[in-house]
Amino acid sequence: MKTVFSYQDRTDLYKMKKKGIAWEGIQMVDLKGQYLKIKDEVDRAVLDCMASTQFINGPQVKAFQTAFEEYLGVKHVIPCANGTDALQIAFMALGLQPGDEVIVPAFTYVATAEVIALLRLKPVMVDVDPHTFNITAELIEPAITHKTKAIVPVHLFGQSADMEPIMALAAKHGLYVVEDNAQAIGADYTLRNGQVKKTGTIGHIGSTSFFPSKNLGCFGDGGALMTNDDGLAARLRMIANHGQTKKYYHDEVGVNSRLDSLQAAILNIKLKHLDEYAAARQKVAAFYDRNLGGIPTLQMPARQNNSSHVFHQYTLRVKSDDRAKLQQWLKNKGIPSMIYYPVPLYKQKAFSDYAPAGFELPVTEQLCREVMSLPVHTEMDLELMGYIADGVSSFFAAKNNN
Ligand SMILES: *Cc1c(COP(=O)(O)O)cnc(C)c1O
Repeated sequence: MKTVFSYQDRTDLYKMKKKGIAWEGIQMVDLKGQYLKIKDEVDRAVLDCMASTQFINGPQVKAFQTAFEEYLGVKHVIPCANGTDALQIAFMALGLQPGDEVIVPAFTYVATAEVIALLRLKPVMVDVDPHTFNITAELIEPAITHKTKAIVPVHLFGQSADMEPIMALAAKHGLYVVEDNAQAIGADYTLRNGQVKKTGTIGHIGSTSFFPSKNLGCFGDGGALMTNDDGLAARLRMIANHGQTKKYYHDEVGVNSRLDSLQAAILNIKLKHLDEYAAARQKVAAFYDRNLGGIPTLQMPARQNNSSHVFHQYTLRVKSDDRAKLQQWLKNKGIPSMIYYPVPLYKQKAFSDYAPAGFELPVTEQLCREVMSLPVHTEMDLELMGYIADGVSSFFAAKNNN
């Protein structure tokens, strides 16, 4: 079924397509390849779930919750319907008032700020570190006012924000910390005393997403919250379940946000592979580092020594105005690339109310102009990595020869 195809066959991918050879091309993420490796186990679990007809709150959900708590070393996991809901439920649980300020990075996926605005809270956008792309305590501190109630570090692209100084700053000002861990599930953060914690379990609440292309993805939408605080866990669980404390007794206005039994069944299987998936991504990253590190125009992804990097994305900075040309060059070779993210939050029309006209953050501006993500996923072999790295190098080699 799968055509054997050499990536090294540079004579070109388009000819192959034209000849009608079935090949899906190089992808940013190869969900099909990943599925085929665990197909028997996944299919069996899905069929069992269907046969049981316990589609909602089946035993798979509780089993996944427990396994995930154990994996993360956290007291409570609260599964929910998606990562955006997880963030919304987190802010609802904190009992914030309209107008309260929540500090977020300006360089992130929109979901982070969206739920804050939706709850009539005020997202306050701060700049990020030019190397890690994450917010830091130093960047957060000047944005704290008497209205600030919470900070949302986003562990962007798979590496933890430097959490220990952020937690210290939050403690000093009496603020909550909600970690948006949608991109870094499984990453480790090492405290100064040597203790290692999983991202998402360091702040008061952590949230994550099981969107299919995330590092731990299900076959549809899914999400979860995590906390070590018993009181917050009870509130999160209640809010995710219609504000219900006892069946048909509703203490608060909540939402309906559940993880389907089918998705939990799939996640139960994929969780066992999460560390091996991270290792596969890290291998790709190390290969790119080795093979592209010598190109002066490229800034390679920074590695913090107190955090592992699970490479949800492998994101370069193209420090020249060649990004669009490079993308086109790669495209001609059948190599996809993506811009995460092209527009700062404060320049999104939907968020114009939260940023005065002309508001700009220098690093965020620069990153939106320069970042470019290369394919990184669990199914890449050396040949494919080589083809992609050569594709990138050849652009700069051709440029230097002109
Ligand atoms: C994917 C993502 C989300 C939202 O997750 P969904 O499950 O798609 O709602 C939130 N924050 C970040 C940083 C993400 O990457």
